[in-house]
Amino acid sequence: MTTSMRVGIVGAGIGGVALARALHQRGIEAHLFERAAAFGEIGAGVQMTPNAAKVLKALGVGEGLARIGFLPNAMVGRNWDDARELFRTPLREVCPRLFGADFWHVHRADLHAILCEGLPAERVRFNVSCTGVTQRGDRAVAHFNDGTEFEADLIVGADGIHSVVRDATWGRSDARFTGHMCWRALVPVAQHPLPFVSPDASFWMGPKAHPTWVAESWTEPSTREELLGAYEGWHENIVKLFERTDKQQIFKWGLFDRDPMDRWSKGRVTLLGDAAHPMLPFLSQGAAMAIEDAYVLAAALSHFGADTNAALDAYEAERRPRTARVQLEARERGRTYHLASPEEQKQRDLAFQQAQAQNPNAVGIKAEWVYEYDATRCAERFGTTPAPALT
Ligand SMILES: Cc1cc2nc3c(=O)[nH]c(=O)nc-3n(C[C@H](O)[C@H](O)[C@H](O)COP(=O)(O)OP(=O)(O)OC[C@H]3O[C@@H](n4cnc5c(N)ncnc54)[C@H](O)[C@@H]3O)c2cc1C
Repeated sequence: MTTSMRVGIVGAGIGGVALARALHQRGIEAHLFERAAAFGEIGAGVQMTPNAAKVLKALGVGEGLARIGFLPNAMVGRNWDDARELFRTPLREVCPRLFGADFWHVHRADLHAILCEGLPAERVRFNVSCTGVTQRGDRAVAHFNDGTEFEADLIVGADGIHSVVRDATWGRSDARFTGHMCWRALVPVAQHPLPFVSPDASFWMGPKAHPTWVAESWTEPSTREELLGAYEGWHENIVKLFERTDKQQIFKWGLFDRDPMDRWSKGRVTLLGDAAHPMLPFLSQGAAMAIEDAYVLAAALSHFGADTNAALDAYEAERRPRTARVQLEARERGRTYHLASPEEQKQRDLAFQQAQAQNPNAVGIKAEWVYEYDATRCAERFGTTPAPALT
């Protein structure tokens, strides 16, 4: 079914632009509102696992992904001080066969850029910060800090973990600081050959630390010295890598968490991505879930046409159980990766060895159930026809 509806999307991160693209592909008018002055993603890499790669292909950016991406050979868990291999899950050879798509490493900014290709520039407004949303009959209105407002059939909050749309719709609640923080940085490989880095997705597992996070924002510039100081005593390969980080591209992040929500949509407002289900990065799924949400929401709106309530129900029915499971399992992985007690580490490493002996594809982060899912087949679950290619 086609529809003449108009959708306002607050936030033009990876989730927001994926939704704009998915709606555009289905002929639904979508307008993006972003508080930043321009599109910009922080300098960091992101893993696009097979479940996300299937959606990216359906969104018409499969070739773009191959252009910007790198295919790691395997996911490898390593011990923090002696680099001993704890597990090895093959990726490059097996993912297409087992999960129907590749496992990619990409730069966030490159991923964002390919999702934006072909979007109408006149439907993106920068420098506008959403201050709230209200319902007006069977429409919703987004309000902005410059005094303007935007009325639409649906307003989608894709405005990240500290979502204003979420607070305005469901009441304010602060995300919980987990006691974990992380650094995100880039190492320019063109200038420095890195013979000590294997072409894999590497997980270095070491004892936990409990920093105090006092900054109001959840991402802060950091320094190479601070990064190296925190990893004193770690294996020389990881230290050598950190010594080569680009000094301009080192950020530290507080890791915040929320419990799964019972409902995302109220009236003509809904949520997507981190605004709906922020998760810890230990399954590498936050952006992937936002991309899956985007595809399913666009498919549901396209299928149910004027019946927006039915579309939002179908969207939540498809997405809430899955994202809740990923949120909770990511939280559990965080605990396992940072075990401090040598005895607990020994038990964990033994469990890795046993799992690997049984099935090397099901060891390590144990995410086969995440990768198998195919959001592009949601059509079969609520009966839409496949989307036409973007023109
Ligand atoms: C260390 C780390 C590693 C990660 N690794 C991976 C990985 O390997 N794979 C993966 O899939 N995910 C990963 N993630 C998760 C991923 O980065 C996020 O889940 C994803 O970026 C969420 O996208 P989003 O569009 O929902 O939100 P965001 O990226 O937060 O985008 C929100 C956008 O909304 C804008 N905005 C906010 N408030 C307003 C407002 N009031 N008005 C207008 N605009 C507003 C912001 O400026 C921003 O552009 C990782 C996260 C971390 C912290």
